[in-house]
Amino acid sequence: LFVDAALAPGAEFPLGLEPTNYLANVLRLRAGDELLVFNGRDGEWRARISDLKKRAATLELVEQTRPQTAPCDLWYLFAPLKHARLDYMVQKAVEMGAAVLQPVMTRRTQVSRINLDRMRANAIEAAEQCGILDLAEVRAEVGLEALLATWPAGRTLVFCDEDAAAGGAAAALGAAAEGPLAVLIGPEGGFDPAERARLMTVPKVVRLSLGPRILRADTAAVAALALVQAVRGD
Ligand code: SAM
Repeated sequence: LFVDAALAPGAEFPLGLEPTNYLANVLRLRAGDELLVFNGRDGEWRARISDLKKRAATLELVEQTRPQTAPCDLWYLFAPLKHARLDYMVQKAVEMGAAVLQPVMTRRTQVSRINLDRMRANAIEAAEQCGILDLAEVRAEVGLEALLATWPAGRTLVFCDEDAAAGGAAAALGAAAEGPLAVLIGPEGGFDPAERARLMTVPKVVRLSLGPRILRADTAAVAALALVQAVRGD
């Protein structure tokens, strides 16, 4: 369970309505039961429910079960999609170890407003689900040009492009996969020619094909992140 509290030996803290509901009605826990908690900073802890009422609960920490882990140095950049597809993209990116989630507005992006709180909630849920202790950083949307204008020199940009020649993805990633890296997935309509040309001016860019078929953006995201993680191994 994600908790918004400092975790240290002997700590005791209250839970609000939503997590209390989750403990009592979804997990069906009772006072005296134990569960694992994390806050994205202090590792994973075993906690005991010392009090459980209808609308509030109190947890007391028993012991640390895992130290805090360092996040993968992997950014996930994506043209945002609508509702359920965006939820899916965020969940899968977190499961695949993305440390930064960055929505990027491109010329053909059809979504104009992004619910960052919903993205954060999905990121937390995905981390809870797969035992990831470091929370992905959800960044506010940025235009493609603004993103590239301040691109960090040492970070490789893996630009997923359905027009790239298929085959040789592992070789294309090659040594680039070892350092700081970002994976970029375009919008439903793809990148336009000027954007493609601009992306190719990034000093450390890898133009990556995910095969000869045009994948849906959310499928492409999972395929690209899986490929990168298989090569990097983190
Ligand atoms: N119209 C579909 C949709 O609604 O999702 C497909 C959109 S596809 C153009 C979206 C993005 O997925 C592309 O900009 C690219 O980043 C990535 N993509 C899809 N298929 C790919 C492939 N075979 N190789 C590399 N990237 C791919």
